[in-house]
Amino acid sequence: MSQQPYIDGFEFAESGETRAGRWALRELPRLRPSLVDDAGELHYELRGTRDALGRRALGLKISAVLPLCCQRCLDTLMFPLELDAILVLATSEAEIDADADDPEAPDRVLAKREMPIGELIEEEVLLAMPFAPRHERCGERTREIGEHRASPFAGLSALLEASSGEARNRRR
Ligand SMILES: [Zn+2]
Repeated sequence: MSQQPYIDGFEFAESGETRAGRWALRELPRLRPSLVDDAGELHYELRGTRDALGRRALGLKISAVLPLCCQRCLDTLMFPLELDAILVLATSEAEIDADADDPEAPDRVLAKREMPIGELIEEEVLLAMPFAPRHERCGERTREIGEHRASPFAGLSALLEASSGEARNRRR
């Protein structure tokens, strides 16, 4: 690997540097339990910047298609995720807490000399993910094919499965 997988927060923000690349989904341990398949990767672009008030900040763009489990039919749902976040660097947790009650406040992150890029990416992806992902119309493609063969109880068992609430445990 030619580049370190972490940045020095304030230094990176001040330099106006940009770092872009791909990140394997399987390298994001907190995200993995939500994925049906972790073979893919996402694209990211991290840049040093300042917010409207001139505070040092990180700009983070992420583009991904995440294979999630539809919470209605339990089939795979390819969820397109595009985000463009500004994270204003803070020098202490107290500084972050001071903003916590203000809904207008920007996202904050504690600046460190070694900030793992993977953790920044992972945090933003987790925040942007739908809580209960669902297809707009489940099984649209399979319904036509299955119509003649499916037993009258197929729909019922799908309903029972969907309501069992164990979607997350059904992964391979
Ligand atoms: Zn579905």
